[in-house]
Amino acid sequence: MKECVPPRRGIVFIVSAPSGAGKTTISRAALERIPELTASVSVTTRRPRGNEVDGTDYRFVTDDEFRRIRERGELAEWAKVFDASYGTPKRPLDEAIASGRDILLDIDIQGARQIRKAYPSDTATIFVLPPTFRELEQRLRRRGTESEAAIQGRLARAREEARAYDEYDYLIINQDVDESIRLLLSVVTAERLKVTRLREGFVPWKS
Ligand code: 5GP
Repeated sequence: MKECVPPRRGIVFIVSAPSGAGKTTISRAALERIPELTASVSVTTRRPRGNEVDGTDYRFVTDDEFRRIRERGELAEWAKVFDASYGTPKRPLDEAIASGRDILLDIDIQGARQIRKAYPSDTATIFVLPPTFRELEQRLRRRGTESEAAIQGRLARAREEARAYDEYDYLIINQDVDESIRLLLSVVTAERLKVTRLREGFVPWKS
């Protein structure tokens, strides 16, 4: 019954969290389970980890390439996170909004601020926190991808970042992944029904 869906702009869903909060797991599962939601693929100067695939998880580039992309104005936002640069390509974002497709951005707080400013009426922002700081520490260690110094750096940053929760529209405490995905799905469903997202000129029962 696709015809019954009123025409609306696409929504930019932003999910942020301190690293180790389980955000990547939630966003991946959400993308699999939530219909018609695609991921934005960020550009980064960080090296690929484990089984990350270039073009799918990230577009991995050199510092020089990143700078050129940025200078050409191809990024909707960009930030330095830890020792690498990360950015969201602008074109796919603009195209998604214009054509009514929803897009999910897994980006940090600095990036979220920039996107919210650039697209004030087209974003819905979600902050994910682990139930306790201790839980965050355990998750980071279990992941085993970082050195002790890097873990300490991420933990210090996490404490700082957690304070930004009140800049977001929604807060999900990630106690249980399945439950968190259900909550995220509720957010997506509700956001899709907002009257403010309807295209200008929408008239009920016109056709
Ligand atoms: P990781 O290196 O663990 O994949 O990501 C580190 C941090 O960078 C995470 O908080 C992630 O959300 C953030 N990040 C990933 N892509 C982008 C992006 O395009 N822009 C910004 N601002 N942050 C990003």
